[in-house]
Amino acid sequence: MLLARKEISVGSLKLNAIPRQDWSRIEVGSLFRLPFNDLLYAAQWVHRQNFEPNTVQISTLVSIKTGSCPEDCAYCPQSIRYDTGIHTHELMSLEDIRQAAQEAKAAGATRFCMGAAYRGPKDTELKIIKEMIREVGELGLETCATLGLLTPGQAESLADSGLDYYNHNLDTSESFYPKIITTRRYQDRLETLKNVRSAGIKVCCGGILGMGESREDRIQLMHTLATLSEHPESVPINHLVKIPGTPLASAEALDSLEFVRAVGVARILMPCAHVRLSAGRTDFSDELRMEYSTKTRCCFSLP
Ligand code: SF4
Repeated sequence: MLLARKEISVGSLKLNAIPRQDWSRIEVGSLFRLPFNDLLYAAQWVHRQNFEPNTVQISTLVSIKTGSCPEDCAYCPQSIRYDTGIHTHELMSLEDIRQAAQEAKAAGATRFCMGAAYRGPKDTELKIIKEMIREVGELGLETCATLGLLTPGQAESLADSGLDYYNHNLDTSESFYPKIITTRRYQDRLETLKNVRSAGIKVCCGGILGMGESREDRIQLMHTLATLSEHPESVPINHLVKIPGTPLASAEALDSLEFVRAVGVARILMPCAHVRLSAGRTDFSDELRMEYSTKTRCCFSLP
């Protein structure tokens, strides 16, 4: 790690690249309001203190169980409540997972993420998924899973199988959250994150921007992430992908530069986290992707 104990000043803020959990909402708001070039400079400076500037880590995401989810996340085509025409399937076989992981490794991925559309996994499902995690780990890939809500016992059980990362996003601010999801509480999400952390699994947690939230909501989301007892090791910043059939199919577009601002703010607030570009990145222009790549370190590929 290239951590350097020095600081820079931008506007009235003094910034360093050492993680802290005591950010105030006012400070987060000040970062969002920085002149654009000051924000880019600060984010890039922080990034270079902790990471090699020109490397990215590639993860492959596989949907191991798709669709028929009982939850009502307004952005998600996998909810059983919306008619989105997606191809649904039950839990993939161990053999198919092994093959997908081998292909991902051959394509350059170092992390293999397995996502299942559950409210939370049943113990019978978890047993099979733990086998998958062991298989993927034996191939020399880092493992990540996103399976919904977890109890403390389930998190420990996943840790026993060797799971490296668990993804569970906060999605948005606590205030805006009821407009997006009504079937689980914000607090449920925080509980799952706590259970994952307590089990010794690394945390991947971020949000989705462009769902009609205000800047104040984006400030609140970033503030919540940056004041968790430990910063997530990975922070995926998603841009809403508008899927016909979901309630957010015609959400008002988020200004692209505001998205860049949010990525830059995340970079500064959580200096050692791997800020990841995930959903929505393929819709960006080349210029915007370049902007983002100055402040992030990872992206996802989909098989
Ligand atoms: S819990 Fe996950 S899979 Fe289910 S609707 Fe929400 S985002 Fe989609």
